[in-house]
Amino acid sequence: LVHINQVEFENFKSFGGNVKIPLEEGFTVVTGPNGSGKSNILDGILFCLGLSNSRGMRAERLPDLINNSKVKEGKSSETSVSVKFNIQDWFPREDLPPLELEEEEIGLNKGQKEWVVSRKLRLMPGGSYASTYTSDGKQCTLQQIQRILRDISVDPEGSNVVMQGDVTRIVSMNNKERRNLIDELAGVALFDTRIEQTNAK
Ligand code: ATP
Ligand code: MG
Repeated sequence: LVHINQVEFENFKSFGGNVKIPLEEGFTVVTGPNGSGKSNILDGILFCLGLSNSRGMRAERLPDLINNSKVKEGKSSETSVSVKFNIQDWFPREDLPPLELEEEEIGLNKGQKEWVVSRKLRLMPGGSYASTYTSDGKQCTLQQIQRILRDISVDPEGSNVVMQGDVTRIVSMNNKERRNLIDELAGVALFDTRIEQTNAK
């Protein structure tokens, strides 16, 4: 499985300035007093990967994600979050259509060990704002990020991020539903589809 190595914040929510959070392989727990910014780490990951709307990141609108101290009347301001993936164990998914040619340049290469996604949000003095994304430093679209995320089995509808309400849903699943969930997470679900296809021939 791929995993996130590091999340880097620049003026994101409670993180003023530059903050790097390393994540070891395995199990990481973040502890701290209420309101100290634990959930903001998760919001940063959702923001960077375009996995959520502003409500899902507990903000009225996207510019509310910019650290308060950086937002000055009549001045532009910005925030950015980078997520570094360890993709050493990644293998190309054969159930997905091949990348479009134009996407090839920003796609993952065999043998590539890390993938860095970054999103920057810029707020203009007039109140308008815009996001830009990069994949390994190359500017790209959210659609291209989403395509690569699917390639490494990170899915907005999937269980890569388990929100508070989801816990009850998973706990109340029956055995078969829970088994399907584990198969999806482990990436073996696609082989079931292929076995079915072979049997049908
Ligand atoms: P809990 O234990 O209650 O779940 P938590 O550690 O998860 O708390 P968060 O919800 O991550 O805390 O952080 C909330 C804090 O983030 C609040 O103190 C809020 O003021 C701060 N915050 C949110 N947006 C901004 C922003 N744009 N600028 C500065 N601070 C912000
Ligand atoms: Mg919290």
